[in-house]
This record gives sequence, structure tokens and C-alpha cells, in this order.
Amino acid sequence: MDIEQTLERPLDGKILPLCTWPDPVLGGECTAVRAVTDEIMDLARNMAATMYASQGIGLAAPQIGQPLRMIVVDVTGPDKREQLITLLNPVIEHAEGCIDSDEGCLSLPQFRANVERAEVVRVRGQDLEGNEVVIEAEGLLAVCLQHEIDHLRGVLLIDKVGRLKRSMYERKIAKRVKRA
Ligand SMILES: [Zn+2]
Repeated sequence: MDIEQTLERPLDGKILPLCTWPDPVLGGECTAVRAVTDEIMDLARNMAATMYASQGIGLAAPQIGQPLRMIVVDVTGPDKREQLITLLNPVIEHAEGCIDSDEGCLSLPQFRANVERAEVVRVRGQDLEGNEVVIEAEGLLAVCLQHEIDHLRGVLLIDKVGRLKRSMYERKIAKRVKRA
């Protein structure tokens, strides 16, 4: 599939520390990637390496402290690593249907939530060669793209749940910080 692109050597990337909520970098609007520089290529490799090492299927740049509009996704998971997609400046052009999705987030340790997502999405962005790409996705890939694109405007799973569930998690995190 031409929507997929494998970085030359994604394993060369560095595994970077993950930013976790309530780190303010997770709550802001990210800026567009204007050009594919060496730094952006490095960032892409590091994001893929960090995602795989963290057992994730998606990662957005703000999760490693870079407020840029950039995501990596691989729904085949860290064991297979068969479908790495790196997207710059992704936007959801079209969405339809509605599904319940049980999700976690690498920036929200020990948190899961059931959220509503579109069933099918069409996402437009650029690849690492600067080409315009359009991805038609459904199921897990559609959900994962929506989750990562949410990160680029500072929206986390925790912003999509009720006040009670949110405050329970806030207390859990506060306790952990105190213990550390
Ligand atoms: Zn996330």
C-alpha cells in the first residue's frame, strides 16, 4: 500500500522519555511542520522507536515534548512492526459512523476510557518525502489516527470523560507524585 512508509531504519531512533499528563506540553495546540529537515527525520525515527519500546500503536510529537503536528502509527504493534505510518500535519477531512472505543494512552499511565469515535475517517497529511498523502481508514487504524490527531490540538482521553472519572485519575496521579 502506498500509504505506508517504512523509515529506512526505524530502529536507529532513540527511545525518549514520555511526557505524561498533566505536563503542559500535552495541552497545547501544536504547530505545523513546514519542511522535512534532518531534525524532523530524526524526530520521526525517535518517535517510532519510542512508540515501539513503549508497546504503543501510536504516538504524537507532543508526547515526547515536541509541540509539532506530527504522528506515528503502527496498528500491527511493536511485535510485528509491519505498517509504520508517519504523518506530518495530519487533518481529518471526512469522518463517518460512530463506534465505542476502549482506549489507553502512553501519556496517561493506568488510565483507560471508553470513548466515541468515528468508524471511518479520511486523513490528509504529508509523508517524510513531502508528498501529500491521503489515508482512508476504518476500525483500529481509524480510531488510532483520531486519538493521535487529538493530541495535536491538546486533547487527551481524559478530556473526553466525565468529571468524576477525571477527578479520580487526578487523585491517583497526585498520590503517585507524592510517593515518588
Ligand atoms: Zn495518547
